[in-house]
Amino acid sequence: MKRPVFRRWLRSVKKLSSAQKKELRNELAQAERKSLEEEVAALVGVPTACPHCHHDEIRPWGHASGLPRYRCQGCLRTFGPLTKTPLARLRHKDRWLYYMEGMNAGESVRKAAWRCAINRKAAFNWRHRFLTLPEAVMARHETGIVEADETYFLESFKGQRHLPRLPRKRGGRAAKRGLSREQIPVLVVRDRSGATAEAILPADNHQAIEAVLGPLVDRDAILVTDGGGKGPLALAARELGIAHRAVNLNKGIRILAGVFHIQNANAYHSRLKGWMFRFHGVATKYLGHYLGWRRMLERFGDSLGPDLWLTLAVGHCEG
Ligand SMILES: [Zn+2]
Repeated sequence: MKRPVFRRWLRSVKKLSSAQKKELRNELAQAERKSLEEEVAALVGVPTACPHCHHDEIRPWGHASGLPRYRCQGCLRTFGPLTKTPLARLRHKDRWLYYMEGMNAGESVRKAAWRCAINRKAAFNWRHRFLTLPEAVMARHETGIVEADETYFLESFKGQRHLPRLPRKRGGRAAKRGLSREQIPVLVVRDRSGATAEAILPADNHQAIEAVLGPLVDRDAILVTDGGGKGPLALAARELGIAHRAVNLNKGIRILAGVFHIQNANAYHSRLKGWMFRFHGVATKYLGHYLGWRRMLERFGDSLGPDLWLTLAVGHCEG
């Protein structure tokens, strides 16, 4: 609309009856909702193959819930761009980008629910739907000097109705000092280019570590770990035939030959733990989501906006 015409139109708003003003407000809200849904539709894009049978001949097939639908020429089933993604059937698309604006700040479920006008259960559900795929976005290949270190998270059954043991106080601490089965081991592997991979280990032993390092670390790499050459990490490096340098932080040996240290992995741990503190202990079944969340913040930094979060959530973006 041309500017002078728009000014005239705007002046006429004053003359509207209260019923007409209400109608106008509804119309504006609807237009706003539609444009936010269109933004989401543009970001999730057009599927290139059928999500049911992977046939690549697909035809447009109308619209549903603000998104285009398609029909597969192979299996004749219909689908949308979110079918078989973690965001399938998630409602209120007009609020997704608002919600994702709070992701970088690690917004609480309560605040996100209030800001996006959804209930808390939905806000919690959205958090974990949006984080399902980012959990798997990590470095697939590490080379050069590679630092590997384990950190531990207290096992938590937060949110679960039937605890397999007596409850701890919120956040809490382990019943036994040091390592026990209540601690979940997480291996962080980071090379000097900043490529980072993490794995929640099923057991704290060299076999579990080998299964992670084997496909990840280049055979020409030099692995640096703590522990003075003892322990499961050192054993895993030996078994895999990867050159290995061991610092020993307990004995004050932090750096070897001026370059071999695990300061990047350790700094990563402490940033991770500091950031996780706000969640007052996370449920072990969601630990991978939180690790992925933190990894995305580290990996993308300032460029991580709501639109990038959305493409990560639907799996269109690789680490
Ligand atoms: Zn198909």
